[in-house]
Amino acid sequence: MAINLELPKKLLATVDQAHQAASNIFRPISRKYDSREHEYPAELDTLASLYEGLADAGAAGAGAGAAGGSKTPQKDSAKGGVKNGGNMQSALGAMEVAWGDVGLMLTIPYQGLGNAAIAAVANDEQLKKFGKVWAAMAITEPGFGSDSAAVSTTATADGDDYIINGEKIYVTAGSRATHIVVWATVDKSAGRAAIKSFVVPREHPGVSVERLEHKLGIKVSDTAAIRFENCRVPKENLLGSPDVDTKKGFGGVMQTFDNTRPMVAAMGVGVTRAALEELRKHLEEAGVEIDYDKPAHTQHAAAAEFIRMEADYEASYLLTLRAAWMADNKQPNSKEASMSKAKAGRTVVDVTTRVVELTGTLGYSEHLLLEKWARDAKILDIFEGTQQIQNLIIARRVLNKSSAELK
Ligand SMILES: Cc1cc2nc3c(=O)[nH]c(=O)nc-3n(C[C@H](O)[C@H](O)[C@H](O)COP(=O)(O)OP(=O)(O)OC[C@H]3O[C@@H](n4cnc5c(N)ncnc54)[C@H](O)[C@@H]3O)c2cc1C
Repeated sequence: MAINLELPKKLLATVDQAHQAASNIFRPISRKYDSREHEYPAELDTLASLYEGLADAGAAGAGAGAAGGSKTPQKDSAKGGVKNGGNMQSALGAMEVAWGDVGLMLTIPYQGLGNAAIAAVANDEQLKKFGKVWAAMAITEPGFGSDSAAVSTTATADGDDYIINGEKIYVTAGSRATHIVVWATVDKSAGRAAIKSFVVPREHPGVSVERLEHKLGIKVSDTAAIRFENCRVPKENLLGSPDVDTKKGFGGVMQTFDNTRPMVAAMGVGVTRAALEELRKHLEEAGVEIDYDKPAHTQHAAAAEFIRMEADYEASYLLTLRAAWMADNKQPNSKEASMSKAKAGRTVVDVTTRVVELTGTLGYSEHLLLEKWARDAKILDIFEGTQQIQNLIIARRVLNKSSAELK
């Protein structure tokens, strides 16, 4: 069977629109907001209404849903019922928008990682209620990061409500989003099966943003510490099933990662491509020829290095598309989602750093965006599960080991 690796025509419009936005809106303001940490880029408001309009019209291009993911595949693209749906479209949009500026991308209103979480597990009623909010994602706490089973924030049932108490840190878009998807346990004694996610409005009694973090990269993105103190939300705000099923364990909330990891991978793919394009330009200007018909080892060292990095880029791209495609086609994709994020996270860090090296003083200077991309890249290999955690998940799946057997 032949494999067609070209994108279907209807997705090309998404790519094109997202690229225009990235090129015309993001790139020109990229440096400005890198040097004004935490300042809200007013330019994004125009983009938000554009996205909203496109989403309403069902033409969610320009990366609308760029980080959002979607439960609803849009059209069948082949007779066999193969779908190229919301996840694929979002991944492609994310690649383009992150090519423009990944920090700004994480700041686009209504495109939060919490939106992907909602899309992954919400029922129809909740999709109606929360489909159009701007949702940040709050898992991490002062006491844990990687070990997401260690959630200590509590959600105590009280009549028709849950009362949430706890502290979340490093919440991307935590001070700007309209809502926060919060992981909390409904019963500490029941372990990971009792961890559920709740949609909480940010401006709500009991919710307070305590501080914003100063960071290495993605400086325009607001990274917030948020306290929940006797914060009361209706029971309907619990995403997925409220049952504590110890046999299913962590299933419910972990499912959100199957949607969000390919999106973070897509961001990595976008930044990698930005860096490679810039490097190609400089190599050409320096008279270094990249020849795909000659073995790499017979070429200029920089050209050989370019070819190696481009192969990593292609692998990241294809793994990301596969993970998103599987999500659209309702195929279990946890392993593939982790593979895409592991590869794309590793590649974007490697490539952006190497491109700074290869372009010398120019690469390290602020004349170009290369040094910024090298700083921005690192987070893509950390949040939504670090490199090591992705490798652990992949190993468990490949070796058929439980989390107790391999940790
Ligand atoms: C800028 C930024 C934005 C963020 N945004 C969000 C957000 O929106 N929402 C959210 O909930 N969180 C967010 N985070 C938190 C992020 O998800 C965590 O930092 C990440 O999961 C790692 O957790 P940790 O920092 O506690 O590191 P730790 O878990 O303490 O890990 C430290 C190191 O040990 C390694 N390690 C840990 N366990 C193992 C193991 N079993 N085997 C091998 N190696 C291991 C890790 O890979 C890492 O290298 C953000 C973080 C940053 C920096």
